Parts: sequence; structure tokens; C-alpha cells
Amino acid sequence: MSYSIVFRDTTMKDISGWADAVAAGLPGVTLARADDLDPETVHYALVFNAPHGFFAQFPNLKLVINLGAGVDALLARDDLPDLPICRLADTNMKRTMAGYVLFAVLRYARDIPVFERAQRRGEWYYVHPTDPDRIRVGILGLGHLGAHAAAEVARQGLQVQGWSRTPKEVPGVRSVHGLDALPDFLATSDILVVVLPQTPETTHLLDAKRLAMLPRGAKVINVARGAIIDEPALVDALASGQVGEATLDVFETEPLPADSPLWAMENVLITPHLASVASATSAAEQVIDTIRRFEAGEPLTNQIDVARGY
Ligand code: NDP
Repeated sequence: MSYSIVFRDTTMKDISGWADAVAAGLPGVTLARADDLDPETVHYALVFNAPHGFFAQFPNLKLVINLGAGVDALLARDDLPDLPICRLADTNMKRTMAGYVLFAVLRYARDIPVFERAQRRGEWYYVHPTDPDRIRVGILGLGHLGAHAAAEVARQGLQVQGWSRTPKEVPGVRSVHGLDALPDFLATSDILVVVLPQTPETTHLLDAKRLAMLPRGAKVINVARGAIIDEPALVDALASGQVGEATLDVFETEPLPADSPLWAMENVLITPHLASVASATSAAEQVIDTIRRFEAGEPLTNQIDVARGY
């Protein structure tokens, strides 16, 4: 029996790249928007921010694929069907995330914000660069995105440690795991990078108490989800100097509200949630592989553990 794939991401105006990739990789299968499909034929849904009630239109739906790595918003829905859920974990996301993290870490490791401020004052201000192996970088989350970013930072000669739920082996990275290891991990991170999923366990993981465990003046880079850091506590820590600088790509409310104190803080760099992006070509390959596996009854890669939250 032939089937179809419904695609729902309103931020993507042209889905012909996806449709062509599916036609080539899964002959006889159509990928289209809901209006262009017979709902009975839809077995797979590729979604990002689908409206409430979206899934109920498709009586033969078998699998939901989230068009992104983070599934916190999807899992929070009260209309989520009881079906397997997969997410994107594609090469382009890994590369773009590592590039962003590398940029943000090296910007601090090379004191660039100090020179940005000196330039605005019109001042030739020399600060001797710190040896990379004396700079301690802590990466919270050593998954698909965090592990690659950690390895790339380690390749620059910085001291890198990573924190996860279970033990990991990442080249050049000291790996610790579990909540008991967190206080010492924070106390020994001059630059802290957050690449965790947002789950009940990680929401406000970095509250005022844990931000106070960082070395005074530590730099914080959040590329994961805003709610993993208690934002008012971060603002206070940035104002007091406990946190020296922050690079923030994600926020508790997005877009960041105009009245957020973060906008005016000169020790904060704000980017609009774009640290990591998927490319249609590499993501389509992964989606085709997932559907092939599902049809063949093989184990799925990148399946979400709904109870765990990622
Ligand atoms: P993965 O699921 O591959 O990895 C998650 C990592 O976090 C794993 O190492 C996991 O540990 C660890 N972790 C989860 N919960 C805990 C916990 N309670 N305690 C300790 N460690 C924990 O996710 P990705 O690397 O693919 O993505 C990470 C997040 O990045 C996404 O969930 C998303 O929110 C965000 N993101 C942001 C983007 C942006 O543009 N800003 C774009 C894409 C993603 P273990 O492996 O041991 O279970």
C-alpha cells in the first residue's frame, strides 16, 4: 500500500527540496502539506510547531518526526498521539552548533569583548592572551550536539570537561555524569556551555544557587533552551559580576521581550535562536532512513524516550 508524508512547518515557504528528496529516496511516496493530501494516506508527519488538533486529522498516522532536535514543545502538547516520536539529529545541525560554540568560547578565551569595549572607548588596550590549556570549559550535555562541540573546543587546546546523565567517552574531553558531580563541575568551569535538552530535570537547573557555584566572573553560553537557566537569577548574576559575560541564543520567552533587562547589558551577546540549523538535504536523508527503518521493522535511530523527555 502506498502512503504519504505530511509536512508542517510554516517557517519553510518552499518544500520542493524535501518533496524531491523523498520522491528520490522513497519511490512512490508523496511528501506534501496537509491540504494537498488525502488524510487517510498519511502515515508519517514531519512537524515543527503544528497547530493544536493537527495530528487528529490523520487516522492512519504511525510515526511523528520533529523537525528539530529539541522536543520540549512537542512533548508538552496535550494532543500528542500515542505514537513513536523521532527527532532530527543531522550533520548540518552538529556542524553549525559546533561552529557557534567554538566562536562563543574562543571569543571569551581571547578576551574579545574586552577589546570590543576598548574600541568603543577609542583605547588601545593590551591584555596578554591566556594560554588555552589554562582555560577550563565545561559543557553541560554531551549528546549529538554537545559531544561534537566539546571535541571541537578540545581540539583548540582548551581544557574541556563535559557533563551528562550517563558516562560518555569524547576525545580530549573529561567526562563526568550525574547530579552529584555538578557542583565540582560548575566550580571548575571558567566558561560554561549549556547544550542540554529541556526536561523536568533540567528546567531551571542553573538557578541562583548553582550560578553562585561558578568561579566568579565565569562566562555562560546558552545554546539549548532558555528555561534551563533561571533568567532573573542570570540577570542578577550578570549585574553583580558573579557571571562575567553571557552569550545567549535562547530565552525563557522568545522573541526576547523588548523590556528584558538583558538587551541593555553590555556584557551580554544576544542572538535570535539560530545556533544550530538543519539543512533540507542532510535532514531529508535522515528522515528517509528513519522511515525505511520503520517500514522494515528495524530499530529507529533518534527516537525520543517520552518518559525521559528527550
Ligand atoms: P541529545 O538528546 O543528543 O543529548 C542530550 C544530552 O544531555 C545527553 O548527553 C544527555 O545525557 C544530557 N542530559 C539530558 N538530561 C540530563 C540530565 N538530567 N542530567 C545530565 N545530563 C542530561 O540532544 P542534542 O545534543 O541533539 O540537543 C541538545 C539540545 O540542544 C536540544 O534538546 C535542543 O533543546 C537544543 N538545540 C538548540 C538549537 C539552537 O539553535 N539553539 C538547535 C538544536 C537543538 P545522556 O546521553 O547521558 O542521556
